[in-house]
Amino acid sequence: MYLLRNYRLICNGFQQKNFLNRVAAIRTIHGTGAAEDALDQLKDIAVTPDQPELYKDAVEIYNPAYSYEHPPFVAFPNNTDDIKRCLQVATKTGVRVAVKSGGHSFAGYSSTDAKGFVISLKNMSKVELKGNTVTAQAGACWGDVYSAVDQTSYVAVGGCVPCVGIGGYILGGGYSMLSRAYGGLACDKALAFTMVTADGKDLVKASATENQDLFWALKGCGGGNFGVLVDVTLELSPRPNQFIWSRITYDTAEDSEQGFNSVGKSLNSFPKELNLDMAIHGYFGKKTLTLDAVYSDIHEDKVKASLEALHPGSESPPQMFASYLEFTTEYSKRHGFVHHEVEPIYVKGTMIDSLPPLLAKYFAYIEIPPECLLEFVHMGGDITQYSATATAFPFRSAQYSFYTYGRFHDHEQREEVERFATSAYETVKNSGCALGSYVNYMDRHLKNWGHNFYGVNYPRLCEIKQKWNPLGQGSLHFQQEIGSSWEPN
Ligand SMILES: Cc1cc2nc3c(=O)[nH]c(=O)nc-3n(C[C@H](O)[C@H](O)[C@H](O)COP(=O)(O)OP(=O)(O)OC[C@H]3O[C@@H](n4cnc5c(N)ncnc54)[C@H](O)[C@@H]3O)c2cc1C
Repeated sequence: MYLLRNYRLICNGFQQKNFLNRVAAIRTIHGTGAAEDALDQLKDIAVTPDQPELYKDAVEIYNPAYSYEHPPFVAFPNNTDDIKRCLQVATKTGVRVAVKSGGHSFAGYSSTDAKGFVISLKNMSKVELKGNTVTAQAGACWGDVYSAVDQTSYVAVGGCVPCVGIGGYILGGGYSMLSRAYGGLACDKALAFTMVTADGKDLVKASATENQDLFWALKGCGGGNFGVLVDVTLELSPRPNQFIWSRITYDTAEDSEQGFNSVGKSLNSFPKELNLDMAIHGYFGKKTLTLDAVYSDIHEDKVKASLEALHPGSESPPQMFASYLEFTTEYSKRHGFVHHEVEPIYVKGTMIDSLPPLLAKYFAYIEIPPECLLEFVHMGGDITQYSATATAFPFRSAQYSFYTYGRFHDHEQREEVERFATSAYETVKNSGCALGSYVNYMDRHLKNWGHNFYGVNYPRLCEIKQKWNPLGQGSLHFQQEIGSSWEPN
């Protein structure tokens, strides 16, 4: 309970300071005539600037780097009829809408400018357990699910950071520290989705037997494309008694290079029961390689030999967690992702299918700016049991998801962070091991983004999108929606 309250406080504590205070001057908080019409019809569930405390909370998002304006109001549906009403009013008045579940979009797409409004699913966060399944409403976050599932003999494959929302995360595919050993991506564990169609007229189910095209698409299409996701039913996996986490650190660039190389050579021999994330923590830790090994008491013996075969570094005593919520809370903290104040950030990355020695050298000796960090999230294992076209998520052969994460407080820092991220991204891309970018790490600067996010699945996604939420019709649209011809400069 304490943990749950703790991360809720952290989530609610997002503040936009420094740099944001400066851009606040160019924000306008007034609706257009059409938005005012929409507000008139949704007054009973809307929060406006007339309620300053509630409004401040309502418009907050994890990455405020792109929110130069705020919407004139945020609607808080309490049920599916309210969601339908929001979408119908938006369509009738011709006002753009954005949907917000956890608000963690790296590109800030769960907000709109002053001409639109936000549908926040915060009041729709119920989590219901039934046997080996859990049904979570889109407005819940992973911590809500872990908190409920922790009481059972099961575990849910979900996000590493408890305050990330179910809605956006699951639609992008969703990888987890449990993905390799417990059945793949979070979307691979989805048995059914419930969605309000983009025109607000229908509530539909998507499953293996109903609306199969939508079921395929919702497993990796990314948020904001097809309609408003109401809930998802996930299959749970039997849980171990303990989750074990140990950390290996290297003190020098030479050792980091050998550490990277030892991982690179073992990619195909790691047991799937080992999840081995890598990082150069930059702004909050050492600027050398850290490996985080996560496994369970059931698989300890199997995993140990693999860890012993890695280039030796300083190894911290393993920590044991019976609660998955407690484990993910601690893991997030040690990865610097739970800030009391969330600042503007830029994130850029790509999936990779190998780690060649040239890249090992590049990363080991990289000059990392003070505000950046590099992360390599372990893929492979059970994620590869599906083909690239089995669901909308195409990068089934990825061994790691690589990304840079940089925060900034002024324009100069922003440029430095973006320059560094782009240069690291280009280097990885040119090394021949890049597959494409992860749609859940939505990137406004990514060129040819449709093919980069969806690869071989893009043409099919465009077709299905035209059926469920055609371009140019209705109100649920954004810059980088499937099929859009928008490209960054
Ligand atoms: C700290 C942090 C940790 C992360 N860890 C992981 C991780 O472990 N694994 C991983 O795979 N990803 C991770 N991510 C990326 C994360 O999956 C994406 O940012 C995801 O989009 C967040 O979902 P959300 O509901 O919180 O975000 P939101 O900003 O609310 O939504 C993201 C997008 O989906 C749309 N959307 C939201 N709700 C709905 C809905 N109900 N119906 C339709 N569209 C909707 C929004 O409009 C927006 O375009 C992490 C991100 C952060 C910031």
